[in-house]
Amino acid sequence: MLIDFNASTTSVPKNAEFCIVGSGPAGMSLALELENHGRSVLLLEGGGLEWTPESYELYKGDIVGDYYVGLEYARARQLGGTSGHWGGWSYQLTELAFKEKPGFEDAQWPIEKKDLDPFLEKARAVLNIQAPPDDVLLDREFGIMEFRIAYSRVKFGQMYRERLASSQHITCVTGATLTGLKTNGRNIVAATVTNFSGKSANVTAKYFVLAMGGIENSRMLLWFNHQANGQLVDSRAPLGRYWMEHPAYQVGYALVDLKIPKTEYFRPHLLLTFTEEVFKKLGILECSFVLEGMPSTGTKGLLKDLICVAPRVGEWAASLAGKNIVCGARFIIGWEQEPVWSNHVKLSETKRDRFGIPTVELHWKKTERDRVTMQKAVTHFNEFLMAKNHGRLKLADWVFAKDGYPSSGNDGVSYHHIGGTRMAHTVEKGVVDKNCRVFGQGNLYVAGSSVFPSGGEANPTLSIVQLSLRLADHLLNV
Ligand SMILES: Cc1cc2nc3c(=O)[nH]c(=O)nc-3n(C[C@H](O)[C@H](O)[C@H](O)COP(=O)(O)OP(=O)(O)OC[C@H]3O[C@@H](n4cnc5c(N)ncnc54)[C@H](O)[C@@H]3O)c2cc1C
Repeated sequence: MLIDFNASTTSVPKNAEFCIVGSGPAGMSLALELENHGRSVLLLEGGGLEWTPESYELYKGDIVGDYYVGLEYARARQLGGTSGHWGGWSYQLTELAFKEKPGFEDAQWPIEKKDLDPFLEKARAVLNIQAPPDDVLLDREFGIMEFRIAYSRVKFGQMYRERLASSQHITCVTGATLTGLKTNGRNIVAATVTNFSGKSANVTAKYFVLAMGGIENSRMLLWFNHQANGQLVDSRAPLGRYWMEHPAYQVGYALVDLKIPKTEYFRPHLLLTFTEEVFKKLGILECSFVLEGMPSTGTKGLLKDLICVAPRVGEWAASLAGKNIVCGARFIIGWEQEPVWSNHVKLSETKRDRFGIPTVELHWKKTERDRVTMQKAVTHFNEFLMAKNHGRLKLADWVFAKDGYPSSGNDGVSYHHIGGTRMAHTVEKGVVDKNCRVFGQGNLYVAGSSVFPSGGEANPTLSIVQLSLRLADHLLNV
């Protein structure tokens, strides 16, 4: 059933077995999987069927630190959540992402890749994608890997709306913003939802799952914990802390004789990364490169520049370009951000939203080691191109300057909101345990990339869906 709490006659069911808050990829996959097992779910969604000015307003916030896009543009508050705006790039986190990494002690997960693998095929089905072709080792000496990904076109709100409307087991209520969460110290005893006219209702459930996105999960838990005088989240837990993105920048251009594959929906691009051994040798976190093919006019411009600075290489490249072997490409790098305590979600002390809840203040700054990751990765890739005569890079001046990143448009932004309610073995290190249950609360769980203790280098949504399916499996068996 699909109902709208903003409609004056609608009332919210008072009781549910599972109450899931948020209908983005995290909450929706969980609800659908519980429904597959015949279980009844109340799915509360703060937004409407589509984006509205009121819902957009609720996602405003402030950034303290590095340049970032307005938070109201970085997520979507509507049925299906931010998948209404996403790019659909889908691939798995690597084994390395989960492991302990020397020097980066806070970048370790309490689970391994093999714990998520059993949910991969089902997650792909939810995203309506196939397995991409296997990765290819392009160069053993330099550890250069080409990887392929799948491109999902699923907008969860559109794709699953009819199924929700006709569901016997899921009651999805739009226009129902979670505004309160009451605990008796050990369990959640009630949740409060409010519509845009200020009408509220209380809901009880056996289990509550927060799936409100990679910023709101932290923000709302901080607020509810404040309301509960600290009885909701253990004071030792790093709530809101270790927030991360995948910083991503165009760092220059490349002229290469590597094959840049055509893709189904996007400009031709070649995706490259390094082997685990190279990341370990360089002592950096993971990263990946996108070489996005340019039209022939762009390639010609790059060749002209190259002939000016290095005539012999330029002429060699020009002779290959004539045979369509050398391509010009925008050279983009994205990397795993170092998880640090100081990057965090905080409640504003001065601004409140229409429900009287403090708006978000996102403290986010790239560290010196983030810069080193980018510089070492670009250097290694450049050495590979030079040694194997595969082409040349033309890098922007800022890449090896001491500080300063470009700061306009999408600079540095991947729209991946990671951390804040991280998963760990102990409450001193995390907010949720390895089953995504909030430490200290028997029936409160969190879904989404806010539970990732580190970001790896993969776009997060496939892993978010895998984790939600794993959470469903856990909830069906507790
Ligand atoms: C432009 C753009 C491009 C992207 N491209 C990619 C990509 O190519 N690949 C990839 O993997 N990821 C991509 N992402 C990120 C991807 O969209 C997110 O990882 C994914 O949507 C997160 O799912 P989620 O369910 O955790 O959160 P969301 O999708 O944000 O869903 C959260 C839901 O909770 C609801 N909600 C919030 N607060 C409340 C409340 N108090 N009460 C009730 N409901 C509430 C919201 O309305 C929303 O429906 C992109 C994002 C953007 C913005």
